[in-house]
Amino acid sequence: MSSFSEYNFANKKVLVRVDFNVPLDKQTLAITDDTRIVAALPTIKKIIADGGSVILMSHLGRPKTGPEDKYSLKHIVNHLHSLLNTDGDIVNVFFANDCIGEQAQQTAAMLKAGEVLLLENLRFYKEEEAGDIEFAKKLSTLGTCWVNDAFGTAHRAHASTAVIAQFFNKENRFFGMLMEAEVKAAEKVMHQNEKPFTAIIGGAKVSDKILIIENLLERATDIIIGGGMAYTFMKAQGGNIGKSLCEDDRLETANELLKKAAAKGVCIHLPSDSMIADNFSNDSNTSTAPSNNIPDGWMGLDIGTNACEQFTNVLHKSKTILWNGPMGVFEMSKFQHGTKAIATAVVEATANGAFSLVGGGDSVAAVNQFGYTDKVSYVSTGGGALLEYFEGKVLPGIAAVNS
Ligand code: AMP
Repeated sequence: MSSFSEYNFANKKVLVRVDFNVPLDKQTLAITDDTRIVAALPTIKKIIADGGSVILMSHLGRPKTGPEDKYSLKHIVNHLHSLLNTDGDIVNVFFANDCIGEQAQQTAAMLKAGEVLLLENLRFYKEEEAGDIEFAKKLSTLGTCWVNDAFGTAHRAHASTAVIAQFFNKENRFFGMLMEAEVKAAEKVMHQNEKPFTAIIGGAKVSDKILIIENLLERATDIIIGGGMAYTFMKAQGGNIGKSLCEDDRLETANELLKKAAAKGVCIHLPSDSMIADNFSNDSNTSTAPSNNIPDGWMGLDIGTNACEQFTNVLHKSKTILWNGPMGVFEMSKFQHGTKAIATAVVEATANGAFSLVGGGDSVAAVNQFGYTDKVSYVSTGGGALLEYFEGKVLPGIAAVNS
């Protein structure tokens, strides 16, 4: 692998795997959140500034058996053009109706320095997700270098994210700037963390987070557990949780995780109290109760005020923080207090010198919603990829560039 920022891409045809899998409005097909496109701009702009040409490849949505208009990347072209044509810059952006084949080949060959070509959705071919070698080879002929800037798909061994690497020499494989930043932030938390290191794990299900908790038991000093998954732990320890979310088939797992944590000297913090509701609705009646003594017919939908204080104290002492998953049903205004309190504590700890990494769809959405995006150290664009990284798995999209 070569260093992207130190390389000069002048006169190179640079094939860049980006993650332009952005949400589109169902009716108008307009982009409703362009965060992922904006995140790829530094990489694209650097190649253009060097005098290289850029060939962008991405997937969009989950097309089933081939091309579907609603998943066409043509819906992205105008917005990409306007994002690249600011501050007096004039950047031509072309679109190819296919990601392989003659039109793609010819347009890529004709590209001049500073021009951009966006290829059609890679997943219109089942070969992309299958990691087909022939398909990867066809893609690879479009460029002389390959840049992987799609952290969001780094956990997939797809043709464009990993398999393609074998068709480029080591010197012609790069992490893009987004990927570099993601990997640096994740490695800092995983391998160069300053202690105390607190991981906040929330969200709905224990089953989704077992592997990450197990791996963090090797690294963190403290693990805060909130959200719906906390009630499986409460019940496992003999508590009454009313009709709160619970995975009865994971009670034993929860107890084992608690035992392992105790053996390793890792402090697990469960919410002492909860905001409870008589219904899963913003119009429900609410009250508070100890998290291990929730009355029948009621459910815990947020951590309570004592738990907020309890978790805030832990976070204020932390030097490294990883946050994945909300503390409650923060999508409903009545149950967002806990998630907001924890977000505020993370922001305060960051202002006091802690390194904080927020990742995973819902915690990122929460941080954005509260206007805290710029007040934490790093907000990851990778949901599944970040989760698998912290589960200790090798991500194919990273390994392919490094190998
Ligand atoms: P996850 O995708 O596993 O991180 O879970 C995120 C989802 O968990 C969000 O949609 C939250 O509304 C939901 N959630 C968080 N806390 C609770 C809770 N106490 N009961 C039910 N759902 C919850």
